[in-house]
Amino acid sequence: MTGLWIAALAALLLAGLLLWWGGRQQRAAGLPRGRVIYADPKLWGRPEKPFYAVASALTGKPDYLVAEGGKIIPVEVKSSRAPNEPYEGHLLQLFAYCLLVERATGQRPPYGILRYRDRTFAVDYTPEWEQRLLDELDTMRALEKRASVDRSHEDPARCRGCGFRSVCDQKL
Ligand code: SF4
Repeated sequence: MTGLWIAALAALLLAGLLLWWGGRQQRAAGLPRGRVIYADPKLWGRPEKPFYAVASALTGKPDYLVAEGGKIIPVEVKSSRAPNEPYEGHLLQLFAYCLLVERATGQRPPYGILRYRDRTFAVDYTPEWEQRLLDELDTMRALEKRASVDRSHEDPARCRGCGFRSVCDQKL
């Protein structure tokens, strides 16, 4: 009987330890309180099951999705130091994930999170930002129809903050 009690106590301690460690990891990543339902495996080990339902409907994938108060909040992590204000390209990327989450789940994220190396921004996903994003996407689609599109500037800082940098062949 004593053995059973010891085993139960050990299991309880282990569960508490895992909970504490998960919370610590979540805070270290700059995530809000809530259940992480998707995490880029490069950043956070194995995701829970609901990840498949949401993420399979996304064409782009944020670093994390956190379920909080019945809402799903996208989180994008940047390894660079934070600017005074988030770069517009990063915001558009984050809001693209908000748009995709809304389309995949029918629930609109009220905000998204941009986590830089030294600072975290929670940014409201407003109808104005959504419209701006849709306008940008329209422009991109129109440009895609042209055979080639030249870069319109010589500003390396702008490219560094651009959300399309990873796929752009004209970045500085
Ligand atoms: S050139 Fe490419 S990487 Fe630079 S701002 Fe334009 S789209 Fe972004």
